[in-house]
Amino acid sequence: GKTVAIIGAGVAGLACSIRLAEKGHIVSVFEANAHPGGKLTEIQLGNYRFDAGPSLFTLPEEIEALFELHGLDTKAYFDYKKLDTTCKYFYPDGTEINAVADIETLKEEIHQKTGEPKENIEKALNKSALLYTSLSPLFMHKSLHKLSTWVSKHAFRSYGKLSKFNFNSTMHQVNKARFKSEKVVQLFNRYATYNGSDPYQAPGTMNIIPHLEFGIGAYFPTQGMHDITQSLYALAKKVGVKFLFNTPVSKITLHKGQAKGVITKFGFHKMDRVVSNMDIVNTYEKLLKGERKPTKLIKQPKSSSALIFYWGIKKNFKQLDLHNIFFSNDYEKEFQHIFKKGSVYEDPTVYVNITSTQKPDDAPEGCQNWFTMINVPNNQGQDWEEIIKEARKNILVKLSEQLGEDIEPLIEVEDILDPIKIEARTSSTQGALYGNSSNNKYAAFLRHPNFSKRIKGLYFCGGSVHPGGGIPLCLLSAKIVADNFE
Ligand code: FAD
Repeated sequence: GKTVAIIGAGVAGLACSIRLAEKGHIVSVFEANAHPGGKLTEIQLGNYRFDAGPSLFTLPEEIEALFELHGLDTKAYFDYKKLDTTCKYFYPDGTEINAVADIETLKEEIHQKTGEPKENIEKALNKSALLYTSLSPLFMHKSLHKLSTWVSKHAFRSYGKLSKFNFNSTMHQVNKARFKSEKVVQLFNRYATYNGSDPYQAPGTMNIIPHLEFGIGAYFPTQGMHDITQSLYALAKKVGVKFLFNTPVSKITLHKGQAKGVITKFGFHKMDRVVSNMDIVNTYEKLLKGERKPTKLIKQPKSSSALIFYWGIKKNFKQLDLHNIFFSNDYEKEFQHIFKKGSVYEDPTVYVNITSTQKPDDAPEGCQNWFTMINVPNNQGQDWEEIIKEARKNILVKLSEQLGEDIEPLIEVEDILDPIKIEARTSSTQGALYGNSSNNKYAAFLRHPNFSKRIKGLYFCGGSVHPGGGIPLCLLSAKIVADNFE
């Protein structure tokens, strides 16, 4: 086996360590923080526990694959369940849509609440499934930078369907043409935010995303999202991966065009191969100073970021579920603010995630742990103190109105996460959640490959490179690195 340094113990770094260990390599993970997980961590405020970052869990088979690779039964290490209700939607006019997993019931529910003909919903879901089955083998599981991907049987089959993939219209244009109800358009447009994009700019191809939730399913790890980190960390240790925490890498050392190791506060660590799970822009800017950069890729606009209020709420709102969306009164304006003006709209769409609905010990009896999030622009030097103050006020007005109760007096404990903290804690450029945005039909091709074309023995995984951000894609980036590891 080869000696390998992995820079960063984010979900992709963990997955990559597990895969490379299985191939017989000697893997050391260098992590700047005192703990693994990167964005996928947890916080405790008094008697309330919160998952700090990601809250929606899809494609659990990508986690299972890591256990199976080592001949282990996932359920013995990591438990999760399928959700019956994927999300509850609250509209400004009082309409509520219960997006249940059962498709027949879902169609009926949406039809009842909005008048949308059931066949339109059915067609949209079928189209999403078609996009997924046609494109995911190419764009999610393979490197786009190897000829073998493009001459595969699957690729040739997809070429014949190119016109169906909606590359040339926006998500919104596609949804607007297929649905009668504005509410249903808004519901389906929202999936652009799953990779930090704008439905009014992102290609219609992004309508692939609903299939993840409606076709394959939304899940919840029974011990909370943070258990993904905990169980992958435990698995990595079990299969012999070494971890060095509080150990930021300051440089990737090269010799004759080949990665030779990394430098930390302990000095030089000689390695045969290096994998960076650090944000790609910062990998070039900070660890490869003086090397030629792929400027065009690096300069691509970044995805949106998030502003989160972790609130311990001393009341049990029975009408709320695990995932709750309180829609903005003007979605287009909201996205113009985020992506064109770099600001936050006065009536933002508010997402409230409450894990205590599934895992009661996350909050005291009769209380709930509210992870209250809005999408915000990435950090471009805005006055965040002012934005946070204003947003907090607007969110409280909105939620109090929609729930018919003054929320502020119910807040027992509070913490805040903003783009500046996200950047400081995980080294993500501009605090973007998902690396580059996908507001461009070439977005998939404008992500950095999972290996360096110029520097031998240097690989990349994580949400800022191919295939993209979000837990499942990060896990797949690790798979592509392992599959192409030489
Ligand atoms: P990161 O989590 O970015 O971690 C990188 C790690 O590398 C960090 O631990 C960092 O300390 C370390 N590091 C960086 N530089 C160095 C260095 N020089 N030396 C040593 N260590 C270094 N995804 C979903 O699937 N579903 C969701 O619902 C969802 N919601 C989200 C909500 C929020 C608020 C956020 C922040 C993200 C969300 N995401 C969601 C996205 C998801 O969290 C990320 O795509 C994923 O966790 C990123 O993993 P990663 O492996 O790229 O690394």
